[in-house]
Parts: sequence; structure tokens; C-alpha cells
Amino acid sequence: IPVEPFDLVIFGGTGDLARRKILPGLYRRFQAGQMTDDSRIIGAARGELSDEAFRNLVAEAIAEFLPKTQQDPAAIADFLKRLQYVAVDAQGENGWPQLKALVRDDVVQAFYFSVAPALFGDLASRLTAHGIAGPQARVVVEKPFGRDLATAKALNATLAQHFAESQIYRIDHYLGKETVQNLMAVRFANILFEPLWKSEYVDHVQITVAETVSVEGRGAYYDTSGAMRDMVQNHLMQLLCLIAMEPPYHFDPNAVRDEKLKVIRALDPVRPEDIVRGQYVGLKGQASYLEDAENKNSKTESYIALKLHISNWRWKGTPFYLRTGKRLRARASEIAITFREPPHSIFDDAEGWRENVLVIRLQPDEGMNLKVMIKEPGPGGMRLTQVPLDMSFADALGEAAQDVPDAYERLIMDVIRGNQTLFMRGDEVEAAWAWADPIIEGWERRGERPQPYDPGSSGPEDALMLMHRDGRRWREIR
Ligand code: NAD
Repeated sequence: IPVEPFDLVIFGGTGDLARRKILPGLYRRFQAGQMTDDSRIIGAARGELSDEAFRNLVAEAIAEFLPKTQQDPAAIADFLKRLQYVAVDAQGENGWPQLKALVRDDVVQAFYFSVAPALFGDLASRLTAHGIAGPQARVVVEKPFGRDLATAKALNATLAQHFAESQIYRIDHYLGKETVQNLMAVRFANILFEPLWKSEYVDHVQITVAETVSVEGRGAYYDTSGAMRDMVQNHLMQLLCLIAMEPPYHFDPNAVRDEKLKVIRALDPVRPEDIVRGQYVGLKGQASYLEDAENKNSKTESYIALKLHISNWRWKGTPFYLRTGKRLRARASEIAITFREPPHSIFDDAEGWRENVLVIRLQPDEGMNLKVMIKEPGPGGMRLTQVPLDMSFADALGEAAQDVPDAYERLIMDVIRGNQTLFMRGDEVEAAWAWADPIIEGWERRGERPQPYDPGSSGPEDALMLMHRDGRRWREIR
């Protein structure tokens, strides 16, 4: 279904994110028939570039970042016709009158800030000062949204001077993933899970976002951030919220975001002994974190594991274990909900017994896996064994699953539709920083160094201990 006609201005339209994700994604939506003929995409960045040169840059980005099967030369040529370019300086007056002349005010206006966060305020103020953004305009803001509570508040305040909260779309691309939304469908469209979705029946929850990549190439930036700021405060926190939140009264942006906010507010402060930070070492000629970060004395973590408690009626007594890191054994993201033992066993085969686990895989191979106990087949008497009820969305849904939009595509279309459900609200972001700040300040105050871990491993030893001492274990990363 096509969305309404729009003018989408991409500030930073020649940058890495625009070339890798935003522009190829828009081409895919165009190809899927979601873009009306009169919709336009306007690249805006500092460099001087003709429309023609910008179209060439986008054509190259599509060729480089989309699989060959998705590249249809005729459709690409058609798509490129919808592109224009203006050289605009966020920090100067250059280009703004030209941009004003281009952007129409009788279509949906969206402005994507795909530039360094230091420029967000400049863009917002010039967009309004030049009368380019109308009262219904939408602005899309990239991460990072601040580096602590103070900077996030300042950024929110700056944006609020120019735009209403209903116009601001803070991107967390994790929320655009198909499985993440499926999480809400699984929880709230089935009667099966929700009655068990509480501490009475859930022993613990594990959230893992494991990456194999190093910070090579972006080490200097990453070193000012670290896993807590780069992954936990935003992506893992959002996943935690979707798992732990109460059912919203309706699938409505503010209803959903109200419930997520309540989860963040209910988080207990984390004790230092419940956090393990790690830094990968060099191995077999591959660079260590310290080399990648070009900072021999860096205390920044490339891995973090922590145990959280949510102090509310539903979750009191159920720990949530979160971990994420670079250079780990495999690229795998999943949420695993481990249920408690049945209250009484009628079988003698206590050894065969395993807990029920519901695993929601975000990548690779998005899907769900519910581990249930059955009788071991054969004449051996009543022996128990665990089998997976495994559903790969790709297998279950066939072709429909082949063509799911990538997170960025979906989120950009949501912006055009004016649907904020999958975007973080200002108060959510601030609450997440209010939770993270004291943890980070504690490390800094104590001068804590992360522990070394081998590349290709599943993280530092102490992270294993974090669960072992509770009589639990991490699921294998593979
Ligand atoms: P980049 O350095 O590759 O591109 C920056 C863009 O901003 C260029 O188009 C440049 O011309 C433009 N620009 C710089 N100064 C300008 C000015 N004064 N006026 C107008 N335009 C100006 O950066 P990127 O990697 O594309 O990142 C863009 C944003 O997206 C950042 O906020 C970044 O944190 C965020 N982000 C990037 C990625 C990624 O994978 N690259 C992932 C998540 C978030």
C-alpha cells in the first residue's frame, strides 16, 4: 500500500549510513510500490554535488549494499528520478534558501538528521528559522541520543524549542526488526504465553546481542562510548522493555511507550558485583581492542554482562541477564525466557528433566523456538527428553518472509505514515540514561579496567560466574 506523497530530506545524504542503509532501503520501498510517483528524496550535505552526481552515488550504493537479486535496473533508473540534491551547511547559511525552494508544503515533510549529533540543534533551528519545516513536519534523529542524562536532556530541550514531541522520531533500529515487533504479537495476540509471563513462572530471562566484528575503523569514536552507551542503554534496554512491559491498552504509540517507560523506572540500581566488563585482546595477528581504539590506556568496555532486577509486582524475583560484545564467537541476537520447574514431578526420570525455554531469535535466521518435554520414543519406559518446537519465520512464512523490509526501511515508512510506536520518546531516553549514568560514573570513580577476553570466545570468565553463582548458565553463543 503506497504511503502518502512525501518530501524526505536526508541531511548527511552522502554519508556512510545514508549510503549503506537509508537510500538502498528507500529504493526497496519504491520497488515494493510504497512510494507514490510524486514523492521525492532530497539529499542534503555539505559537499557541492549536482543532482546527477548524487544519483550516481546512490546507484553505486544500491549496487554495493543490496543483493544482486534485488537490483532491477529499470526500477533503479525510475527511483533515481525521484532524487535531488542540495548542498547545505548545517552550521552556516549556505544552501538553506535553495532547500526552502525545493521542499513542498502540501505533502508529508520529513527531515532525516543523518549527521553527527553535534549538528542536530543547528539543523533544527535553521529548518524553522528559514520557514522550511511546516507545523506537521517530522524530524528523524539518529543515535547516539546523548552520552549521559545531561546531554540527552539538553538535546531534547533543543529539539523541543523547534518541534513538538509528536514530530520527533528518535531511531533505534532494533525496534524496526521484524522479530522485535513479533515479540509484541507473540505476547499480546496469544493467550498461551501471557498468563505465564511473570516471576511466578519465569525463572530468568537472558538477552544476548553478540557481534563478531571488532571496532576497527570506528575505534576512535567507539572508545568514547563503549558497550554500555553504544548497546545497553538503547538497544538492549528496548528489548528488555518489550519483554517486561505490561500489556498496553491499545497498540498505540503513546500507550506502548508509556508501558516501556514504566519498566525503565522500575529497574533497581545495579550492584557493581552484578556487572562484568570486558575488552578483547589480540590473537593470531589480529588487533586487540587497545590497538583498534588507538588508545593504549583505554578503560572502555567492548563487552558487558549484567544482571538486572525489575521491582514491580510482575517481575520481583526474576533476574534479567543482559550481555553484548564485539569479537565474540558468533553473530547472534536472542532473547531466552526460561520457565520454572513444574511444582511437582510425577515421573521418576528426574535426570531427563529440563526447563521449558522460549527462545526468540533476532538474528541470524529470525524465529522462535519453544523447548518442551516429551517422552523419549521407544520401549525404554517413561524416560523424558526435551525437543524444540522450532519455527523459523523464513520456513514457516515462505516467500512472505523473504521480502521483509529491513529495519531502516520499515522505520522510514513509519515516519511517513506518522506512526511513532517504534521510536523512542524523549522521556524514555532520559529514563534509560538516568539508570545508566550512576553505573558508568561508578566505573570512572573507581578507575575500573575491563577484563581481557579472547576474540572468538563468549566473553570474560567472570561473565560465566555472574550466572554460575546463581546456579544458572548462559546459553551458548553460536
Ligand atoms: P558520515 O561521517 O559518513 O557522514 C556525515 C554526513 O554529514 C556527510 O554526508 C557530510 O557531508 C554531512 N555533513 C557533515 N558536516 C555537515 C554540515 N556542517 N552541514 C551539512 N552536512 C554535513 O556519518 P555516518 O556514519 O553516515 O553517520 C551519520 C549519523 O548516523 C551519525 O549521527 C551517526 O552516529 C549515526 N549512525 C551511523 C551509523 C553507521 O552505521 N554509519 C549507525 C548508527 C548511527
